[in-house]
Amino acid sequence: MPVDPRERHTLACLADASGLLIAEGAARARAVRLRLTSELPAGADDSALLRARTPLALAYRDGEVDLPQAWLRAAADVLTMRDDGAGAPRDKHGRPLSTSNRLVSAGAERWPVVSLLGRALREATIAAAGPRPSYTLDPWPEGKRWAAALSHDLDVASLWPVFTGLRLAELVRKADLGRTLDVLGSAAASVFADPVRAGVDAVLDAEAAVLARSTWFIICGTPSVGTFRRGDVTYRPESTRVRDIVARLLREGHEVGLHGSFETVEDGAHFPRQRSRLEAITGTPVRGVRQHFLRRVVGETERHMGDAGFSYDSTGGFADRNGFRAGLADVAPVWDEASGRALSLEEAPFCWMDRALSKYQGIEAPDRWIDDALELAARCEAVQGLWCGIWHPNLTPALGFPDAPAEYARLVRELSSRGAWLAPLDAVVRWRVARRALRATALDGNDTPVLAAASDAPPEALAKAGATLRVLDRTGAARATVRPA
Ligand SMILES: [Zn+2]
Repeated sequence: MPVDPRERHTLACLADASGLLIAEGAARARAVRLRLTSELPAGADDSALLRARTPLALAYRDGEVDLPQAWLRAAADVLTMRDDGAGAPRDKHGRPLSTSNRLVSAGAERWPVVSLLGRALREATIAAAGPRPSYTLDPWPEGKRWAAALSHDLDVASLWPVFTGLRLAELVRKADLGRTLDVLGSAAASVFADPVRAGVDAVLDAEAAVLARSTWFIICGTPSVGTFRRGDVTYRPESTRVRDIVARLLREGHEVGLHGSFETVEDGAHFPRQRSRLEAITGTPVRGVRQHFLRRVVGETERHMGDAGFSYDSTGGFADRNGFRAGLADVAPVWDEASGRALSLEEAPFCWMDRALSKYQGIEAPDRWIDDALELAARCEAVQGLWCGIWHPNLTPALGFPDAPAEYARLVRELSSRGAWLAPLDAVVRWRVARRALRATALDGNDTPVLAAASDAPPEALAKAGATLRVLDRTGAARATVRPA
């Protein structure tokens, strides 16, 4: 059955999401084979993928699993975000409207439907293996079964009373008298304090309490009256306050990435300049990027990010609702429609943002935002996937958000107690890129897999995992390992 490049890319992502050990060379003789079929299981239809809330049942027989090509095609459309490309209707920030996304139209955006198909592939393959050896990979380091990446966009670092004023105007517009008075009280009490630094410290203290490390995206443009008015660049990254914040982040093992300002969307040549400017402050390579206001030209901005040397982007999510824009609770290479191949840039999509409910759905109670985050986290955990959320450190009482810091601390505690691997995005991406390159090239006399990097991956690929990669047998026991360099 002919498979187009988008479908081939999607198959690779599904294989990765399945967590199965893939066979290459001599090991293939005893591996379960995947067969693409034009048939659908009895009672199923083409759009079953969008209705999946648990792994779909795939047909299988001894040594063979059937994947309906209609479902592969549907997964490819979702994964490569076909609805967001050229010609998509846009909002006032130039962002593709979420309402024209097919997951949203089908009421399916709150389920990682592509990850669920990966999970289905895993279950059917293990069932089809019968007496054959059957191996899976550790989903995440340290024996963790799922991952949670806490991330922060530093949008406010100076002239904070202006932001209090903007938030007060919003609350007055919403006739929220109780919160308006709380904010006025907190702001008045902060006149001689530093609410920006207090907000950052509260976030870091909550994370330190459970030994979580997070990712911080910093804006690296030069503020002007124009950038301030547009809500774009409002601080200098070289200011003492930002330097002090970055120093604490690096000292405590957090990651610093670039928060791409509006000029990077208009001209991709600004990416390498902003990246170097940030590296001059951090003194370490900057690998990740997320766009301010999630502004980007889909298919163009990502290419510029890759050209500028970033290894991952984390802009792929909805601004006005929480959910899985690419159907994926996982890391995957960015698909480039123009060249018909995947870029070397990875996407680490976020599925939850603090203000999505407040700004766009009118829900002002932070405990409801956190409940929403935890509901999505449970769905990521169910697919052994990645939950990535955005929390703005400026959500403090003085800047207009009473109760928010305490609720953030609850989120962090809860993710930790549910057993998530709480790591910076760079570590998450490096682990998954290395794990994806692992192959069994043969089986020895005890049916133990002989491991090597995939023939199409660089030989040093496995050494970059940052932690030991383990291959598990059916009982969950480690049968083979690759140690980090
Ligand atoms: Zn921002």
